[in-house]
Amino acid sequence: MNINCPKCSNKRYWILKDGRLRCRKCRKTFTDPRQRIRVSRSVLRTVVQEFLLEHSTNTILSRVNISKYMLLKILTLIRMAMTQDVPQVFKGTVEVDETYLGGQWKNKRLSVKHANKGSGRGRGTSKQAVFGILCRSGKVWAELIDNIGKTEVQPLILKQVKKGSTVCYDTWKGYTGIAAKGYVHRLVNHSKNTYSDLKGNHINGLEGFWGYLKRKLAAKGGIRQERLHLYLGEYVWRYNYRKLNFKEQENRLITTIYQYIRSG
Ligand SMILES: [Zn+2]
Repeated sequence: MNINCPKCSNKRYWILKDGRLRCRKCRKTFTDPRQRIRVSRSVLRTVVQEFLLEHSTNTILSRVNISKYMLLKILTLIRMAMTQDVPQVFKGTVEVDETYLGGQWKNKRLSVKHANKGSGRGRGTSKQAVFGILCRSGKVWAELIDNIGKTEVQPLILKQVKKGSTVCYDTWKGYTGIAAKGYVHRLVNHSKNTYSDLKGNHINGLEGFWGYLKRKLAAKGGIRQERLHLYLGEYVWRYNYRKLNFKEQENRLITTIYQYIRSG
């Protein structure tokens, strides 16, 4: 079970006597999001449908008889559940890559020190690093990282990719030494936006996902940095299940939400 602090997205917390949680890093006290949703299944289903259609909060509010406060709680719950619904371990041929997400966060606290040197500096922009893994079936796993560097990304590969797998990456040096950790490694050319597995099948590379993610985040606009992990989870989910039809997406998401609620 993973609960992120709503303020700093840290995953470690204390459980207080009254059942609320307190972040071990920034000390913010918050409620487990799973404990504060009291709506019927039919309302939840309607919200999920509207959410999948990417309707605005006000549009959704016009369709269900709940408060805006409750709707925002449900939307957070949906996104938290989505972040849990990812392939746990990848194997076979995978591609790894990293990028920076563009820079107009409402709260730049987390990444000010990694501010884009040069053009962005001093203009209130900052960039958030994100690392991704793509498996042959086209599914993506991604996580925000503090910094792009060997010490940041290699533990994530070790955690997320089975030993013996083939790890494809571009020429960046952060992946040197990965062979010594039990992986086959291969250089790919990301600029072509596709890479081929060892059987010669070309699949969409991570560049395709980065482009999708950046377009979606840009369209949202003004996301608070501390909530960025929730949106990353949402768009990883939408991308991974984009080939399901609407009903299949809806059913999968509702099942995931109830599993998430019960996991507490
Ligand atoms: Zn915190």
